This record gives sequence, C-alpha cells and structure tokens, in this order.
Amino acid sequence: MEPTAKSEITLQGIAASRGIAYGQVFLYLQSELEIPQYSVDPDKRPAEIARFEQALLVTRQQISQVQDQVAKDLGPEEALIFDAHQMVLEDQALIGETIRDFEKSGLNIEMCFNAVAQRYIQAFSEIDDEYLRERAADIKDVAKRVLHVLLGQSALGLGDLVEKRIIATHDISPSEAASIDRSAALGIVTDAGSRTSHAVIVARSMKIPAVVAAADLTTKVQNGDWVLVDGYDGVVIINPNEQTLLRYGQIRKAKESFETRLMAVNELAAETLDGVKVALRANIEQADEIGLVKQYRAQGVGLYRTEYLFLSTGAMPDEEQQYAAYRAIVEGLAPLPVTLRTLDLGGDKFLADGPQSISQEANPFLGYRAIRFCLDNPEIFKTQLRAALRASAHGTAELMYPMISGPEELDRANALLDEARGELRARGQAFDENLRTGTMIEIPSAALVADLLARKCSFFSIGTNDLIQYLIAIDRGNSRTAHLYEPTHPAVVRVLRQVITTGHEHGIKVSVCGEMAGDALYAPLLLGLGVDELSMTPTLLPAVKYVVRAMKMSDAQALAAEALRQTDPKKTAALVEAFYRERMKLE
Ligand code: PEP
Ligand code: MG
Repeated sequence: MEPTAKSEITLQGIAASRGIAYGQVFLYLQSELEIPQYSVDPDKRPAEIARFEQALLVTRQQISQVQDQVAKDLGPEEALIFDAHQMVLEDQALIGETIRDFEKSGLNIEMCFNAVAQRYIQAFSEIDDEYLRERAADIKDVAKRVLHVLLGQSALGLGDLVEKRIIATHDISPSEAASIDRSAALGIVTDAGSRTSHAVIVARSMKIPAVVAAADLTTKVQNGDWVLVDGYDGVVIINPNEQTLLRYGQIRKAKESFETRLMAVNELAAETLDGVKVALRANIEQADEIGLVKQYRAQGVGLYRTEYLFLSTGAMPDEEQQYAAYRAIVEGLAPLPVTLRTLDLGGDKFLADGPQSISQEANPFLGYRAIRFCLDNPEIFKTQLRAALRASAHGTAELMYPMISGPEELDRANALLDEARGELRARGQAFDENLRTGTMIEIPSAALVADLLARKCSFFSIGTNDLIQYLIAIDRGNSRTAHLYEPTHPAVVRVLRQVITTGHEHGIKVSVCGEMAGDALYAPLLLGLGVDELSMTPTLLPAVKYVVRAMKMSDAQALAAEALRQTDPKKTAALVEAFYRERMKLE
C-alpha cells in the first residue's frame, strides 16, 4: 500500500457490501452530454472538418484498444461486436451527411454530427428486423464516443473498465452494475443509493466492497486519486495517509480472521443448538453464480432475478435464449430447487433498448413494474413462462411472481401459466407437470389478503426490500431517508408475523428473500417469527449459518415475542443487536 502526499478526506456513507479495498479511482460521471451550439466562421470551416476527421481517427484507435483488451480477457468472439462499431466509423453516408449538413448550416461539427446520428438511430430503431435494430445500438454507442472525443471528455463506460480501479460515481443503475467486470472493480463508492438498491445487491453478490450515500464524494475525488473503501463501516477515505493505511491493515487482518471464523461453518449443517434445521438458500442474478451457490453450500436458489438476463443483454431475449439460461441454472444445480422469479422490470430496472413505456414515469416504483408489465404484455410474459417451464424438465424448478397486489392478479398470472403449459403440450415439449408456484409478498395489500393468496399458490416468499419501502413509504434507493428504513419498525414486525402465520394456517411454506434474510443481525428475528427458509446473496450464507448454529430457536422465538411487544424500533434494533453480538461472540 503506497500512501499519497495529498491531504486525507474521510467521508461517512452507508456500508453496502463488506470488505476493504484500496486503489486508484475511476471517476464515472454518466451525466448526459451537453452539446454546445455555435456558428463556425467560413475561414475556420476546413479546420472544423479536420477536427471531425481527427475525432473519427481517435475514436477508431480507442475502439481498437478496447477490442484488443476484450479479445485478451474474454476471447475473440466477444471482441467481434467491435467490428460493427468500426464499420459505423467508416460509414460514408453518416460522415458525408454530417459534412454536408455542416457546410449548409455552418454550425459546429458536434451539433451536425449529433443531429445526423440521431436521425440514423431513430430510423434503424423503427425497422422491423432484429439485426438492423441492433445497428441502432451500435450507432448510439459509437456516436457517444465520437462526441466525447470532440468535446474532450472521457467516453469510458463501466463495461470498458479493465484495469483494477475503485469506481466512484453519483449513482449506479442495476444494468451498469451488471456490466462491471468483477476482476477490474476493486470497490464501488457512490454519492447516492441505499443498502437495498438493486445495484448494491449486485455488488454484494460480486463480493465487491461498496459504500453508498457518501455525500458529494464525486465532487471531492479526482480520477487517479487513491481511495480506501471500508465496506464494513461505510467509510471512504480519499488520499489516506500512512497511519490510516497501517490502521486499516490491522482492521483488514481482524476482519479476515472474522471471515475465516465464519467460513469454518461452511460445510456444517444450518441447525440451531436446540436441534432445529433451517433452510438457507441463495439469491442469484446471473447463471455464472451457480458456482457460488455450490461453494457456499446453499440448499438451492430461493430467488433467481431473471430480469438480469434481460438487463445484461439490454434487450428482450427470445424463448430459446431464456430457455438456455434457465436450463443452465436448473440443470446445473439439480436436484437442488431453483426458484425462478418472473420478470421484475421497472422500478429502478430498465432496459436500454426496452419498451419506452416502462421508463420515464413520475413514480416508477409505484408504476408499470414487474407483474403489471407482464400481465399487460402477455406475449412477453408467456415467452418467459414457456422458457421457465421447459427448463423445469431438467431439474427442480419453482416459479414465483413479483409484485402481486391481490388475488385477481395471481389468478391472471396463473391463467397465463396454464396457457403456456397448453402451448408446450401442443408442441410436444416436456416440462415438470408438478411445478410449484409461489407469490412474493412485497406489497402491503398482498400481506393483508395473504389468506386469499395462500389458497392459490404453493409458497410465499416475502420480499422485505419492497415490503418495507411500501409499508413505511420510504423509497428504498433514497439516501436521504435511508435512516428511516427500519426493519425493526413495529409495523414491519407485525406484518411479517401475520404473513407467516397466515401462510402456515393454509399449510404453505413461507420464506424471506429480501436483504433482511441475509443479514445475520436480523436472521434470528425472522426465524423466531416462524419463517421456514431464508434466501440471500451466497457470500452472506456463512455469517447467517454461524448465528443459526450459535442460537437456540427457543431464544429466537423469545426475541420475536419481545419485538412484537416493543413500540420503539430503536429498542427492538438494540435487542436484535445484543442477541447477535452475544451469539457471534463480539464485544
Ligand atoms: C424484495 O423486494 O425484497 C426482493 C427480494 O425483490 P427485489 O429486491 O428484486 O425487488
Ligand atoms: Mg422486490
């Protein structure tokens, strides 16, 4: 660790993903490009055209560099896409039209180039041919690079990051997070965000230390600065001095020995001291995480967020692509169960080239999201259902619907599932006839009518991330209100109890797959309230298993009973914390 001469700045944010990282910053500012407009004097016009040609050349060199790096890191196939980008740069129509527009209008070249590029993007995106539509995305990408060069700004996207760096950014979208190369990102620090924003969930599953809501961080840090990220305590230190680095060297050692202590239980059963076995499953976003599911000995996948398949490609995959992805997971983990959650787009998850209708809403978390979008687009939904059903023939799959608000929606979803089954039968394609279907309980109205829903499905999975945000009206991604997002709020404790009891009265299993389930602090409370199963980011499994093995279920039940009596969320939080610290043998 090399200390730096600049003065040290410490920022307190929210600890979002465990770990300590130290490295140089890659400042990623994704603000929309502002393109100036001005007239170019006639005598300066040849120079303006030369500037444009130079920008095309520089862009070509940039793309070649990225292409070489991708070919080296990922293989020649993946690098092929950049050939299409180079072709855009050589497109005489695009270049010729820009120069003609420039000669006619006399406006600066970036203005003319942007106008022509936008016309092309619009025209290609309206063509009813998938190959040509993809060209629109290529032009968009290349045009952005050319404009960045003309305006003298860095055009690097997060997906281009290949050197090991700490990513510093205002906020990060789930698709941007999914595009990060995990071997290149040492850590992530943001100005905004919260513990349950989707991008943070992705960082956690990639084991990348992260701190969010470190206010104004991006105004204090510069590209290339050295930064220390403490994802345990939510601290970011810019230009740490020698003493700080020494101190963190010790902290890191202590944390590593704590992690080693946790990992010692990895191979052991998740069983309490009084002999109650607890089911611990994994949450995954991508097929390549099945290695982690096995490594951390999860008893299957309790939540597979299928929308990341859509987010990582930026478009709607067809039935075959979806089938291949779902099958790889179901078959790869068989006979362990895998719960595929149907598409949950909207909220903070949008496709770059997806239906425009689901972005740009005033309140996306209350808008056209998840099952609402799917029921409104039955062909998209049934394509997914058929793919999931076909994958179910290769192992143990379960299906669950996100954002169900009441029984009528559940009926409609199940009716479309029946139609999808009928279509597969007509095609003679196999699927598991006994596929179990579940309902996510993450909207307060669903919790209130849990009895009506329980009759129509085989299990409940409580999505505490959304349930808490909707119950106490706290935007899960807003750092300003993050302190009010309290899992120990009496309303949360009561609702959890009620859903669990109702599920059990109707003979169905109740699991929790929100971030609360993977927090060793809250796991005893959830288990004490009667939850049958916890599902979490794989890397969090050892800590939860550790606390399960160190507690008695009867004590967890007493903790839950006390939480149900409490009126003050802070007092309940203190009880939960004391329970945890004692079991984890922490001072
Ligand atoms: C939840 O809301 O708790 C959940 C698990 O779903 P997501 O985080 O994907 O919204
Ligand atoms: Mg949710």
